[in-house]
This record gives sequence, structure tokens and C-alpha cells, in this order.
Amino acid sequence: MAAALTSQVALVRKCNRLLYSVRSRFHTSNGLSTKEHYKFVVLGGGTGGITMGARMKRKVGAEHVAIVEPSEMHYYQPMWTLVGAGAKTVSASARSTASVMPSGVKWVKSTVMKIDPKNNTVFTEYGKEISYDYLIVALGLQLQYEKIKGLPEGFEHPKIGSNYTVKTVEKTWKALQNFKEGNAVFSFPNTPVKCAGAPQKIMYLSDSFMRKTGKRSKANIIYNTSLPVLFGVKKYADSLWEIVKKRDLNVNLRHNLIEVRADKQEAVFENLDKPGETKVFEYEMLHVTPPMGPPPVLKGSSLEDEGGWLDVNKDTLQHKKYTNVFGIGDCTNLPTSKTAAAVAGQSSVLDRTITKVMKNEKPDKKYDGYTSCPLVTSYKTVILAEFDYSGQPLETFPVDQSKESRIMYHMKADIMPHLYWHGLLKGLWGGPGPYRKIMHLGMK
Ligand SMILES: Cc1cc2nc3c(=O)[nH]c(=O)nc-3n(C[C@H](O)[C@H](O)[C@H](O)COP(=O)(O)OP(=O)(O)OC[C@H]3O[C@@H](n4cnc5c(N)ncnc54)[C@H](O)[C@@H]3O)c2cc1C
Repeated sequence: MAAALTSQVALVRKCNRLLYSVRSRFHTSNGLSTKEHYKFVVLGGGTGGITMGARMKRKVGAEHVAIVEPSEMHYYQPMWTLVGAGAKTVSASARSTASVMPSGVKWVKSTVMKIDPKNNTVFTEYGKEISYDYLIVALGLQLQYEKIKGLPEGFEHPKIGSNYTVKTVEKTWKALQNFKEGNAVFSFPNTPVKCAGAPQKIMYLSDSFMRKTGKRSKANIIYNTSLPVLFGVKKYADSLWEIVKKRDLNVNLRHNLIEVRADKQEAVFENLDKPGETKVFEYEMLHVTPPMGPPPVLKGSSLEDEGGWLDVNKDTLQHKKYTNVFGIGDCTNLPTSKTAAAVAGQSSVLDRTITKVMKNEKPDKKYDGYTSCPLVTSYKTVILAEFDYSGQPLETFPVDQSKESRIMYHMKADIMPHLYWHGLLKGLWGGPGPYRKIMHLGMK
């Protein structure tokens, strides 16, 4: 009898241990929700989330910071432009999320399902409830391939790729290598995008690759963009138009990709100036830049603006309605180009804003909209576009950065990745502002 009781107790203990381990691994089980509280909760562990997690750790201590991020892997996305052109490998762009997570900070490996800013609480996939004193939203943006008829299933076919996801970036390189003759078509969607230069960088690299491999005379290179301009800042657009003419690249403005018939190698574009008018382009290679939109979880949270983006003050990055909520990066409605370089500039301002808000003082540092886009124009040249909210160049180096430069290519390919992993993600790189001043002898 006693022996039976002992074994029953042991069994119950074993079950409890199992339940505990399942709960702690999956945060909850059997619908029983767990609750946690942190001074800072960061939503998203991409560029902005890891950066701000590292900065908040320094401010309040690791045990008071949690980052909610479901992905096992973290990617340096700017490298994918070079991966699609065979100049870097996917693995060089990847690190495990565990390795970039600031040590001691709680990694909640889950997806945020609901944000309730009125009650300072977020809810994750497994029913976990996390409350906070301060919330930093760094959820990035959502890629919307499905808005183009025939995608994403069209990626199962060859000759089509997209540098915008880890799954499709190597398909770009494959399509480029296998190119024989015909049209090479590159698209730019009719929505805000991250890194507005990336859709055309891969065109310049493809042109260079075809020249190197003797295929260029058999290729008709076409850049179909929804925009009315080649690039948003005139100084750089002027240089790019010169390159486009010199290299015989065909640019069609106001052309929006609406359908891909991958089995027939056809891409259908709508003329945005003549709605309803479409044109079919046969292709031997197609690079798709997908439509993009705000993270769906913001919808109905009362944190979003009318377009669905996180509604923040453009100077301070503080939410317009909830003073203990802040935003950084692609998910925000900051009226600047969405880049990792912009995240760097935003991170130092946001750090300062939060310090002030925590002391009940008025934020005093203003984000000027700094953003940067290394426009890769070949395997050895880059035009380094840097500009602010007003679209005015804000260049770091005391040279004309609208000229193609070999040094800037090395910056892009070799130096910036180091700056990303060892500077930005550690919360130590807040953009080139201080260096710009030195380079220009305090004049900028
Ligand atoms: C092809 C390409 C080329 C680029 N080139 C450049 C360049 O040359 N220079 C440059 O500066 N920038 C470049 N960028 C842009 C740059 O990578 C992004 O702007 C930057 O990573 C944005 O950081 P973020 O934190 O806002 O978003 P991300 O880094 O995308 O992070 C968002 C995170 O949120 C997580 N998330 C989303 N939803 C949820 C949820 N519900 N719950 C929890 N987590 C969630 C995601 O898993 C992701 O990890 C490029 C991007 C691409 C794709």
C-alpha cells in the first residue's frame, strides 16, 4: 500500500515537472495563461528591437527588459542585395537570434497577437500576458507577395526571384546565372517599401554580371517602377539617370506589377497613369519587389494612423497618444525612407527621449529623418545616398557622394556589416552624425 502511494506521488511529481517544463518552454499550456511584468517590453527582435533592447539594458538592467520575437534567426537584410547577385552568401547575412539577443534580457520567443496600450499589456501567441511600464514597438513591415496575382506560388518556377526574403533571394542569383537571352525585368511596387534603392540595385548588378559573362548584348533590361521618379532625391536621381542611359537600361515609370504567370514567364504591369491599361512583359528573368504594408497586429490597437502604421511624433519617436509607447524602424509612420541606417539615427534619439520621459522631462533631441541608401551600381561601385526628412542630402564624407565610388562599395560590402553586428545591435552606433561634423570640420 505504502509502496503504491509512494509511486503515485512520484508519478504526480513527474507530471508536474513535465507540465512546468512544457509551460516554461511554450510560455503557457492548456490555455492557462501566465503573466509577467517588465519595465521595458520591446516588440520585435529585428534591427530596431535588438538595438533598443541593448540600449534599454544599459539604462535599467537586463532583468527589466523583455524582447518578443518568434524567429530563431536574425538576418542582416542589406546584404541580400549582394546575395541575389552572387557576391555574398545567405549564411554570411545570418546569425542566430540567441546570439544577438542582449545577454540577460528575457527573450520571449513568441508572436505578439494583441496590444492593449490602455492597460499597458501585450498578449502573445500562447496566451501569455505581459505588462509593461514602457513599450517599444519595432515590428518591421509586412511583405505582401499575395497582393500580386500568381504569387507567392509562382516562386516554385525558375527564372523568378526576390531579394526581399531569405527563401527567395538565392532564386535571384540562380535566375541571373541561368539567363540566356531575352527580357530581364525588375519591379518596384505601389506601396511604401524598405530600402527604396534595393529594387534597382539588383538591376545594376545584373547588368554588370551580364557584361562580365558576355550575355549583355542578348539582354533587354527593363526597370518598371510604380514611382514617377527613378529615385526620391534629385541629386542622386540625376546620377542614376546618367547611368541608366549610359548602360542602355530601360526605365518605365508608373508601371505597377499586378500579376505573374510564372508558368508562361509573363509579368503583367498596370499603367498607373491610365488605370485599367495593362501590358504583358515576357521575361527570361524577373526580380519582384513585393507590395509592403504595416504589421497586422497594429490594426485595431489604437496605436496606428489611418494608413495602419505606428503613429509617432516625427521628432521624438514617442507615440502621439500613449506617452509610454515608442516606435522605431519600418513599422512607424516617420516620413523618411525605411532603412537600417535610419534605425541607427533613430536609436540614439529614442534613447534620449526615453531618458527624458522617465525623468518626467520634455524630450529635447530631435530626429532629423537621417536615412541612407548605398546604391550599388556594379560589383565595385556605390553611390552613397544620405538624406533627411526634407530630401536634402546629408552626406557624411567631404566628397560628392552622388559619384560612383569604389571606396563606398567597400564600405557597403565589408565595413557596414561589422558596424551592424558589433555597433548597431549592441546599441553603440547611433548613426554617423558626430562623424559628419568632424569630417566637415564642424560645418554640418
Ligand atoms: C533586400 C534588402 C536590402 C536592404 N538594403 C538596405 C541597405 O542597403 N541599407 C539599409 O540601411 N537598409 C537596408 N534594408 C532595410 C533594412 O534591413 C530595414 O529597414 C531594417 O531591418 C528595419 O528594421 P526593423 O527593426 O524596423 O524591422 P526588421 O529588422 O524587419 O525587424 C522586425 C522584426 O519584428 C518581428 N515581428 C514581426 N511581427 C511580429 C509579431 N507579431 N510579434 C513579434 N515579432 C514580430 C519580425 O520577426 C522581425 O524580426 C534592406 C532590406 C532589404 C530586404
